Amino acid sequence: MKKIAILSLLVLTSIVTNGQENVKKCITTRLVEQELISNPDYTKGRISSINENIDWIKANHSKKITINIPVVIHIIHKNTHSNIGVGTNISNAQIEDALKILNEDYSKTNPEYPNPPRNTFLNYWGNPNMNFCLASTDPSGNPTNGITRTSTTVGSWDADDNFESNAMKKTVNGGMNGWDPANYLNIWVCNLSNSNGGGMTLGYAYLPGLQSWNAWKDGLVIDFQYFGTIDGASTSSDGRTATHEIGHYLGLMHTFCEDTDNQGNPICCDNDNNNWGGNVDDTPATKDIYFGSVTSSTNNNTCNDLSYSNLFTTNVKDMDENYMSYASNTWMFSIDQVNVMNATLNGYRSSLKNTDVSMNCNGSVGTELNNYQLENLNIYPNPTIGKLNIISADKINTLSITNIIGKEILFYKDFSANIIDLSSHENGVYFINIRTDKGKHIEKIILNK
Ligand SMILES: [Zn+2]
Repeated sequence: MKKIAILSLLVLTSIVTNGQENVKKCITTRLVEQELISNPDYTKGRISSINENIDWIKANHSKKITINIPVVIHIIHKNTHSNIGVGTNISNAQIEDALKILNEDYSKTNPEYPNPPRNTFLNYWGNPNMNFCLASTDPSGNPTNGITRTSTTVGSWDADDNFESNAMKKTVNGGMNGWDPANYLNIWVCNLSNSNGGGMTLGYAYLPGLQSWNAWKDGLVIDFQYFGTIDGASTSSDGRTATHEIGHYLGLMHTFCEDTDNQGNPICCDNDNNNWGGNVDDTPATKDIYFGSVTSSTNNNTCNDLSYSNLFTTNVKDMDENYMSYASNTWMFSIDQVNVMNATLNGYRSSLKNTDVSMNCNGSVGTELNNYQLENLNIYPNPTIGKLNIISADKINTLSITNIIGKEILFYKDFSANIIDLSSHENGVYFINIRTDKGKHIEKIILNK
């Protein structure tokens, strides 16, 4: 393993664009390249995260205990799907199914273990030992079931469009602002579409390294039909899109080569063991993408592994069963991939591991507080020139005002003043979030001085 320098990182890979059935299954590589071109801070962040990981792995850290990671799932659903369980407003059972599959895959307790369809890489099979739990406190410290549901007029989000592929992460675009990415893994579940050919996008995530002003993009986006396997999920969903995307989120690349020759033909490379790849030594070099299933008779061996720097001493088959491939059935991370993911959780994403956020790790979705009965609450005038009257028949436990990018600008505990003054803030759209023992109420406020 060799540390990387800025120069070598600036030589960007080109994406495989041949006419295969679903090359856009996951658009992480394209989004990451885009971000690297437009955002020098991200290049620095990627380099420092990769180098940190190398140091951590070299120091032979090993992790025995399970790491719990707080997750918030933002369901962005069409306004015509107002009932939970209808269309894009997926059921709690589907969310629980998605979490179950994710937690099996990240604890090496998935159904394929210990007898997978083929034994080729049994000795390379790592256990990430990670547990994804629903957050039970929100960024203001209020109780939550770890799920937000946002009604939107947006019919679908075009993964091929640079703006729309991140637009669901902003309330102002009809999506939902993410929660502080230092403390939560944000997962946006919505209806993805593709305006260009080349297949359907199931999900994507950013590799570690987004900093400050672009951190709002951090997290996963997953199509609602590929989150879990039941209820509203597609019959073709294996429920492992989240498994794959969290691999990216924790620093992993695809196992197959994403470079092409000058004519656009696939070539051999060790994609996850090059400058970008996070130095995974125990996944073989692989040319092109394999979309098929992996069975005892799958014998793909597209590249000669003896030509690459890795830990193999013979030319081995392609590791198509790896979660970071595009095969139709996958069941494992390698031991080196696990090391990279753990290094990320002890490096760039250590705040997620050390967070104070309370979590519900029992795998079932708790009850969300009902929306507060409006007749008990009166907020006026709206729009306001500054002063806002807040009259509530019930005691207000917490009251917060956030701006359009989700930043909290005012917070009160045990609010009883009946009036707040926004006149020192800029004109614009704000959100007031009120909690009482009977429930919560969120409302848009317009400030127009
Ligand atoms: Zn991917």
